[in-house]
Amino acid sequence: MTFADLNLIDPLLRALEMLAYQTPTPVQAQAIPAALAGRDLLAAAQTGTGKTAAFALPALQNPANEETSVGPGDVRVLVLVPTRELAEQVFNSFCDYGHFLPLRGLVAYGGVSIGPQLKYLRNGTDLLVATPGRLLDLYQQRAFHFDEVRTLVLDEADRMLDLGFARELDAVFAALRHPHQTLLFSATFSADIRSLAGRLLHAPLQIDASPRNTAVSSVKQSLVTVDKKRKTELFCHLLKKHRWEQVLYLSAPKGCRHLLETLEYQGFPADASHGDKPQHIRQRALDRFKQGEISILVATDVAARGLDIDELPLVVNFDLPSVAEDYVHRIGRTGRAGASGVALSLVCADEAPMLRAIEQLIQQTIRRSEERGFSPEHRVPQTAPEGQQSKPAKRPSSSAKTGRAAAHGAKKAANPGRSKARSGGKASAAGQRKAKKNPTDRH
Ligand code: AMP
Repeated sequence: MTFADLNLIDPLLRALEMLAYQTPTPVQAQAIPAALAGRDLLAAAQTGTGKTAAFALPALQNPANEETSVGPGDVRVLVLVPTRELAEQVFNSFCDYGHFLPLRGLVAYGGVSIGPQLKYLRNGTDLLVATPGRLLDLYQQRAFHFDEVRTLVLDEADRMLDLGFARELDAVFAALRHPHQTLLFSATFSADIRSLAGRLLHAPLQIDASPRNTAVSSVKQSLVTVDKKRKTELFCHLLKKHRWEQVLYLSAPKGCRHLLETLEYQGFPADASHGDKPQHIRQRALDRFKQGEISILVATDVAARGLDIDELPLVVNFDLPSVAEDYVHRIGRTGRAGASGVALSLVCADEAPMLRAIEQLIQQTIRRSEERGFSPEHRVPQTAPEGQQSKPAKRPSSSAKTGRAAAHGAKKAANPGRSKARSGGKASAAGQRKAKKNPTDRH
């Protein structure tokens, strides 16, 4: 199958040719025709398998076919994502795919000045990629209205629909006109979220482009058991031993700060990205890491979802995430777009219940080892065989981001400057969601 077989318009096909995309990935092959036909979608596909193009291409084609241009305050395609960095990345993908289309577009997230975003939106836009907190701020300041939204996309939809973003999502669903098209995409969907999503969608096509809640098989997963207090020491030892060239190190916020100090003290080229840092510092750390200026990026789960770092070879989990699905997203930063990758977790005895929940979710036992000189005093118990396990832990939620920018025609034009803001959690469309905690990036 080729992209031309999917009935995409010529400007999109030219952009794909420019990007050297030759064949649609499975999620693209299934999602694009259905979305072009106006269907609602609930689409699950593994990390790094092309979900962005699967929703962006049809989302761009539909407004491109409109005969009238947007009026003041209009938004035709609204894309919501949980973090600022992901907003920036998804918007950039829209700019790439829409390079030959004369569409207006803006990315809006917190942590940067809202003024330019307000100004841009008041003139109307075909596309708005936003984090929920900033979206609501803009709406409350009457920068735009929802009357013309034809397509709503929730990327990382399970995170968007969990409790952290409840207030914002409820406001969006209440304000949207009917009918509109809703496209939900993620690599993980719990049964609860599937059922909630099902109630928000109209006769959705459910796509499962791969086994549910799994990382791609090209990610080689393993874990080293170690005592909690020796994790940083172990990581520094492994860094010296293996001379890793590029490693994304994911941790809870407290672990991030301590590790960065230690790495800097020991002379490793590292930087950090977490919710306590100003947005421009966060983005700069990520950009430096992507460009190879630093070899270690220490990050919280703000970097766990959706980020596409070209051929990232290694992800290290300093600790296991507090939600099993987040493990799948974390390790999915490597092994993307057909590349191979390694995911290593440093696991202590306290984390045995979460390890069990993760292994149940991914339905595999992660290969474990010990590092000589770091044998734990407190053993990590083996996960019980299938059928003897207790129920996995329930999930909290997370994240937020910010942004700005505009594309006119092929360009990222008007970037209304960056400022900061906030973002938020998720939640319970009309009170249907279950309460959970949101540990990440909200402010
Ligand atoms: P995503 O899962 O959308 O973040 O995409 C993961 C990576 O795959 C990105 O670097 C995309 O540019 C790339 N990609 C997506 N679709 C295709 C395709 N059909 N052919 C080649 N590369 C692709």
